[in-house]
Amino acid sequence: MHYYLFQLIIGPMFSGKTTELIRRLKRYQVAQHACLIVKYSGDTRYMNDGVATHDRQTLPAVSTDKLMPVRQKAINYDVIGIDEGQFFPDVVHFADQLANLGKIVIVAALDGTFQKKAFGDILNLVPVSENVTKLSAVCTICFKAAAFTRRKTQEDKVEVIGGGDKYLAVCRECFSAPIPPSPERAPLHEFNTPVTDQAKWERIKTQRRLFGKENA
Ligand SMILES: [Zn+2]
Repeated sequence: MHYYLFQLIIGPMFSGKTTELIRRLKRYQVAQHACLIVKYSGDTRYMNDGVATHDRQTLPAVSTDKLMPVRQKAINYDVIGIDEGQFFPDVVHFADQLANLGKIVIVAALDGTFQKKAFGDILNLVPVSENVTKLSAVCTICFKAAAFTRRKTQEDKVEVIGGGDKYLAVCRECFSAPIPPSPERAPLHEFNTPVTDQAKWERIKTQRRLFGKENA
C-alpha cells in the first residue's frame, strides 16, 4: 500500500496512467477507504458516471473542467484520484490543499506535450508531492520503451484530445524519425526473435494448453 499522501503518476500517452490510478484507488477501496475519481469533462472518451472496475464494483466519479468547484464533494472522501491532471488549471493548488488536509491524492497526468515541453502547470506538482512515478509506454515505431508522446497530425494547439488516431508513444530515437506505414518488429528488448510459422504454432498450442478444454 502507498502511504504517501500525494502521489503523482506521469508518463506519455498509452503508458497506462489511468490504469495505474484505478489500480491504486481500487486497493484503497479494498482497504475500506472512500475513493473518488475526478475526470476532465472535456474528455468524452470515457463513460460519464462512475468508473467500472473488474469485479463489478464502481468507483464514484465526477467530471469537471476545474477542480476547486468539486472541493466540497471531494473532502467527503479519503482518497481522491485525478485523471488527466494536466488539463486542470488549478491542479497544483487543489491537490496540495487536499493533501494538507490529510487526504490521499493521486494525480495521473501527461508530463510532456507532443513537443517535449512541460504540460501546463504539471511539473509544479513535483515539489509538492511525496511520490512520483514516471511510466513508459511501448514505442509504436520500434517497440522499445517509450517516454514521449508524438502527434501524428499537424494541429499545433497543445490540448487536442485524441487517442491512437492522433498520437503515438515514441522513444527518443523515433521522436523525430519518419513514421513507417506498418510496424514489422515487436521487441521490448534490443533484438527480437523473428516469428516463424513454427513459433506461431507453438504459441497457439500453449494457449490451448492453458485455456482450452483438456483434450483440445
Ligand atoms: Zn522507437
